[in-house]
Amino acid sequence: MHTHDIFNQVPDLCDYNLYHSDLALCEAVRREGAHWHDGTLSCQGELLGRAEMSELATLANTHTPVLHTHDRTGHRIDVVEFHPAWHTLLEQLRRAGLHALPWMQPGDGAHAARAAGYFLHAQVEAGSLCPTTMTFAAIPVLQQEPALFAQLQGRLFSREHDARDLPMTQKRSILIGMGMTEKQGGSDVRSNASIAMPADPLDGGRGRAYLLSGHKWFFSAPMCDAHLMLARTENGLSCFFVPRWLPDGTRNPVLIQRLKDKLGNRSNSSSEVEFEEAMGIMVGEDGRGIPTIIEMANHTRLDCVIGSAALMRQALVQAIHHARHRSAFGRRLAEQPLMRAVLADLALESEATTMLMLRLAHSFDAPDDPLQRAWKRIVTPAAKFWICKRALAFTGECMEVWGGNGYVESGPMARLYREAPVNSIWEGSGNVMCLDVLRAMSREAEGFARLLMELDDAASAHPALARQVRALKQSLAAPEEKRETCARRLVQQLVLALQGMLMLRHAPRESAEAFLASRSDGDGARVYGTLDSTTVGAQQAILERAWPVA
Ligand SMILES: Cc1cc2nc3c(=O)[nH]c(=O)nc-3n(C[C@H](O)[C@H](O)[C@H](O)COP(=O)(O)OP(=O)(O)OC[C@H]3O[C@@H](n4cnc5c(N)ncnc54)[C@H](O)[C@@H]3O)c2cc1C
Repeated sequence: MHTHDIFNQVPDLCDYNLYHSDLALCEAVRREGAHWHDGTLSCQGELLGRAEMSELATLANTHTPVLHTHDRTGHRIDVVEFHPAWHTLLEQLRRAGLHALPWMQPGDGAHAARAAGYFLHAQVEAGSLCPTTMTFAAIPVLQQEPALFAQLQGRLFSREHDARDLPMTQKRSILIGMGMTEKQGGSDVRSNASIAMPADPLDGGRGRAYLLSGHKWFFSAPMCDAHLMLARTENGLSCFFVPRWLPDGTRNPVLIQRLKDKLGNRSNSSSEVEFEEAMGIMVGEDGRGIPTIIEMANHTRLDCVIGSAALMRQALVQAIHHARHRSAFGRRLAEQPLMRAVLADLALESEATTMLMLRLAHSFDAPDDPLQRAWKRIVTPAAKFWICKRALAFTGECMEVWGGNGYVESGPMARLYREAPVNSIWEGSGNVMCLDVLRAMSREAEGFARLLMELDDAASAHPALARQVRALKQSLAAPEEKRETCARRLVQQLVLALQGMLMLRHAPRESAEAFLASRSDGDGARVYGTLDSTTVGAQQAILERAWPVA
């Protein structure tokens, strides 16, 4: 039966190079000292653009992880089973070095190089990045324990993914997770109630074995070979390296109670665990668990920024691709003036986000310089707040460009949208990030003063940026007792000013002008597509730059 011809449907976007087609990214990679990584990124971009990669991502998110608590005979096994696509994705992440690159090859541009690679992978599949990020972020913490690190280094740095559930000593590579959040509070980790007792009552302290009892309410990637966990000793909260297997070849009793049924990030398993006398090695000082694990959180927060920037880039590219192929009312959507305004506005946001993300990553390469440290300590939580929040509205708007086809699971837009909120929640939710910015501004006062000088300098070249910086300074001058209430406003102003500065310095003139004009006025209560009419002439060029593929 022939009922109709199919036309005006959009072909899948595949077989393109994610790296080469992203001019803002290519330029930023060179600018932020990662030019030496260009060839690798180019290969990664080509691989990730292949149709088979989106198929792997779809498979890993459709055939979600399954928990097996017991074997046939009733023994506990606490194993999570994944679709093979999950392991293929982890193999690729590992081969690209995204779990450890800056620690394996430290030097100028190392963090920016990794961030660019992470940004490419995150456009295709986000769940597999969770254990990758946690492993990456755990390394600087573990490096503080030279004896333990010496045992782990080879397996941590390995570029091979070893999915076997075996004691670490029998594996070629390992993954590390993180366990902080308990039922009674995740933001306020001081409320952690899990306890740790020295395995030998006469021999406690750093590097010694403890027995941990309690629970964790969110415990992602429980198949990791070890987790860094917080538990309370008589001296306060401390950090422990808790392996999945014990040295005698038996399982460490960290019992997986169930897997979370999540809105997004479905390829990745997030679990609830309970443990009684699980063995852990103390990492860092006794009673200094929070500062120890905060080092890890700084890096996971950076990855939230990169991951959200990537969701935005992929959503944008899909939206422009769709609008260039789909017609309505006799014209391609991309030629409709109002749709062009929406897409151009989204393209500006994505470019400013990419720039900020890579500039921020570069600051992690020079933590001893006060200005770079200010970027790392102040701009990381600020960007995590702002960019992760923007990704929510951004992916929603891009979904709408696809119309009804955007809302169904057979295309990529629904997953991008469902993936967006988690980066804003985990590793410190929005308010917590803004409060952290306030704290970091006073702790890094010298670096923050330099950051403001950098902004002043840039603002002298443009009245709109000058207005933004003035507004930021007014917020900074608010009385102490109002600071907390107004923290979101202040952080928004800070990030917008930094993005304006970067756009002014590095984007084409018309893009920078349109960005500054649209983001410097009012209180930011705007939707995408409300660019000023003076930008009409520039919108085509903005879109050509954002997606130079036909
Ligand atoms: C999919 C997923 C996976 C996760 N994986 C892990 C994991 O592997 N390991 C792990 O340790 N955790 C994990 N988490 C937990 C996550 O880090 C926490 O959910 C998060 O830190 C928030 O903690 P909470 O859920 O207890 O919320 P709460 O702490 O109750 O916070 C609720 C809200 O209150 C706000 N708030 C808190 N304090 C203040 C304040 N002083 N002023 C104003 N507002 C405030 C927060 O910003 C938030 O919006 C995961 C979470 C998710 C969703």
